[in-house]
Formats: sequence, C-alpha cells, structure tokens
Amino acid sequence: MKRTFKRRTFLQTTATAGVGAVFAGKFAELKLDAASGDHRPVVIASANGLQAAARAMELIKQGKDALDAVIAGVSLVEADPEDNSVGYGGLPNEEGVVELDASVMHGPTGRGGSVAALRNIMHPSQVARVVMERTDHVLLVGEGALRFARAHGFKEENLLTEEARQAWLKWKENLSPNDDWLPSHDINTKGIGKLLEAARRHYGTINCNAVDLQGNVSGGTTTSGLAFKIPGRVGDSPILGAGLYVDNEVGAAGSTGRGEANLLACSSVNIVEFMRQGKSPEAACRLACERIARQTKMKRLLDDDGRPNFDVKFYALNKRGEFGGASIWSGAKFAVNTGDTESRLVDAAFLYKRATR
Ligand code: ASP
Repeated sequence: MKRTFKRRTFLQTTATAGVGAVFAGKFAELKLDAASGDHRPVVIASANGLQAAARAMELIKQGKDALDAVIAGVSLVEADPEDNSVGYGGLPNEEGVVELDASVMHGPTGRGGSVAALRNIMHPSQVARVVMERTDHVLLVGEGALRFARAHGFKEENLLTEEARQAWLKWKENLSPNDDWLPSHDINTKGIGKLLEAARRHYGTINCNAVDLQGNVSGGTTTSGLAFKIPGRVGDSPILGAGLYVDNEVGAAGSTGRGEANLLACSSVNIVEFMRQGKSPEAACRLACERIARQTKMKRLLDDDGRPNFDVKFYALNKRGEFGGASIWSGAKFAVNTGDTESRLVDAAFLYKRATR
C-alpha cells in the first residue's frame, strides 16, 4: 500500500527563535482535513486488542470506513470467552450478572452512540452503533437499552461463562467488610475500600481507534467494566468525552483503567483538545494522566507518596496517523497496526515507575 503520509512542520510544540514561536499557552492549531492526503491509516487498541487491530486494519485496507473496521475488531474481543474484561466472558457485577458498557464515535458524521449497564447482549458496541444510527439519542442504559437491542433483533444470551461465574463465586465467598459501600469518611481517611485489595479488583476494557484510507477517524470502547461492581454502576467507557472521544479534524482518544477517576476528568475529550493545540498523542495522554494525579485528593486513593494507588491508561492517534499512549503507572503497552506489519505492542509513556518486586 502506498503511504500518503507527509510530515508537516506546522505543528509547533517547541519554540524556535525568530520563526513565529508560539508562547504563553498558545499553540499552533492542528489543521488537517481528509482531502489534504496528509494522513496514513493506522489502528491502535488497548493491549488486549492485537487481533482486533489486525482485523480492523484488514478492513481498512479494503477501503472500509474506520468505524466499520473498529467495530469488527472489538467484536472479536467481545465474543472471546477468554477475555474476562469485555463482552461474553466478562466478569459480572456483585450479583453475578454481566453488565456491559460501550461507546462508538464516527468522525466524518460527527455522531456517537453508547449503551451502559446492558445485560445479555454479547456485542454492546454494535448496539451503541444502532443507538447512534437509529435514534435521536446518544446514550441508552439498563432495561431500556436491552429492550432497544431486542427491538433491533439482537439475540439475548447468558454472558456469564463458567470461568467468570467461578471467579465471582470466589470473590463473593471471600468478601471482606471493605467493599464499595463506603462508611462515612473524609479526605484524610485511609484504609477503606476495595481498592486496597488491588489483586482482587479487575479492570479491563478494549478501546480501539482508527484512521482509514480516506483520513477519517473513528473509535470505540467496550467493556464489562469493573468486576463485581454495584449493579447499575457505569464506568467511563460509554461516556463520550471520558472513555472515548473522536473529532474528525484532529483525532481520537480512549481509555482503560479506573473509570471513576476518568469520569471526573473527562480525559478523552481533553486529549483530543490537547492534540488540537499541537501536542503529540503521547504528550496529550501524559497530560491527561497528570491531571488525574492532580485531581485525586482522597487519601484512600493515594499511596504513601501521595500518588494515585490506581492506574488509568490512555490511547490516542491524530489524523495524520501518529499515535501514542500513556498511563499513570509504568508497564502499560498498547496495540498498533500500521498496515505494513502485524499488530505489535508498544510501550506507553508513564508518570510513575512501579517499584520492581
Ligand atoms: N474503564 C473501565 C471502567 O471503569 C474498566 C477498565 O478499563 O478496566 O468501567
């Protein structure tokens, strides 16, 4: 495939003496349009999305729209019983019921759709797309989302695999008094909440974003959310601006990790705005991590050095096909497929280095 990518120099993130340097918080705007040809196709995804990225790129190379490609990619993970963070096989809520969240955004038409706390439907990202295309709404939740999915012919099935049921049972049987129902506490209270039991909490999601041959950008995020959550808990994944954001003029961003922190920061829309202001995808993701670290004030969420005791990971690409990721804690990777080789895992930038054990 012929690469149409040309590096442009108008993106200014560093000041250069005498050549119209941009200072004082003012950045050169990222201006790209699909017609400029200044883009290259790329697919990125969270680390569990190697196969998803490969599938999406296969479709993009056939000339398919980025959103078709992203949904086909994440659908593989939604249907995979081995991935217990997404769709079928996802870990259930505290009552043993799998509840799924998903969102999609389509850059060229500026539309988006999501579902939250959806039960019994294996492909929430596909339902999110139908919300986008066949309603005047953006987000449907719970029973309403399920009825809507049924009306559109989605098949209901039990999403709880035997493995996930056993994991839930183990959790239930070993439940400690520290659960999500927190006692009255103030900013200085430490030592409460299930986050203490990091090994038992399970986050996981797939976010996948793509630029297609036309230079259009789309993305999707789909998850079973936080394992053993309070029924009805909605994370960041289905919230446009938090778990996913796409702007066809700029690029796309998405997240995995502690959704509560990201819901309070609305990081994906911020990452897209940082990129619009001239930041690279990686720098933009890092800024989002820094903001979360600054915003986290409750002692129960901080370690002894005042750093968040949880992780959030961000993945971003711009319209030119540049990509990057960052997480609060070191060790994160993300999947990339640029169409010329197989999907590969790339290291994400990070704020804090994990102590090696
Ligand atoms: N962000 C997701 C949520 O909070 C979970 C995850 O990505 O691990 O629901």
